[in-house]
Amino acid sequence: MKSINEDNKKINELVINWHITEVCNYDCKYCFAKWGRPKELHRSLEEIEKLLNNLASYFINGDSALKNEIGYDTVRLNLAGGEPMMLGSTFFIVLMLAKQKGFKTSVITNGHYLVNSRLDFPKNVLDMVGISFDSQDLLTRKKIGRVDRKGNSLSAEDLKMALKALVKTQTGIRTKINTVVNSLNYKEDFSSLIGELTPYKWKVLQVMPYGDDDLMISDEKFSQFVERHSGLGLPIFAESNSTMTESYLMVDPLGRFYQNSASASGYKYSDRINQCGVESTLAQIAFNPKTFLSRYRPIDITVTES
Ligand code: SF4
Repeated sequence: MKSINEDNKKINELVINWHITEVCNYDCKYCFAKWGRPKELHRSLEEIEKLLNNLASYFINGDSALKNEIGYDTVRLNLAGGEPMMLGSTFFIVLMLAKQKGFKTSVITNGHYLVNSRLDFPKNVLDMVGISFDSQDLLTRKKIGRVDRKGNSLSAEDLKMALKALVKTQTGIRTKINTVVNSLNYKEDFSSLIGELTPYKWKVLQVMPYGDDDLMISDEKFSQFVERHSGLGLPIFAESNSTMTESYLMVDPLGRFYQNSASASGYKYSDRINQCGVESTLAQIAFNPKTFLSRYRPIDITVTES
């Protein structure tokens, strides 16, 4: 039987996006990380460990049809939110446990707690970090909502400090900056900042139609932003509205798989993975490895929260 790999579509890394919490210290107008604040799974260490065991035994150690079909070599657990670092020591425990169980690890963060935490980052628990950064101007960040209740907001200087500190404790970490281009920042020039930070990747995303329509921009304005920053040697990767798709396995704060429903309105959720196991919960969201693979973009973290 012909496998997908023979079609040259082998992916090296399977990414499981765990939206571990919806709680966040910022309040971005375009944020779509809303699950109605359920009793989130991370509150119980036992449940965390059980979930990681379930995922590891199916995706890493098991011999599932999915593994055979997709043919990945490694599995990366990507922690997203909300703001995952708001969980404090629990966040670090999840990373340490994930490492022990054989996952590669990454996080999408707004960066606030990379520079404002009393906890030390444990060594070598993180393979990749994606930091969201939308503007070098405080007023613009405030208007977008990238600010906490006390008025604190990650500045360009904070961002530089955060990355410097991370590369010291996380050997070989790959860093990514995510910028959501919207009506308030599309004229901004990021070239010298990104040139100085030299991230592995600078991902620019057109704001999605969610929440505040005032932030929306036309495809043309988004293209102008991309063109202005192109040809300068920056590691820019652009995603317009029309190219953004759900390409990852996603787990919600309750520990359920979810994905866009075929009818395109809202999400479809499985039962809890810890109660029913990976195989049957995957089946509940009608997960199809072939479709997944055709839409899959390796080495990406497409999630924009944080
Ligand atoms: S987009 Fe990210 S930083 Fe902004 S409110 Fe949502 S989770 Fe927080």
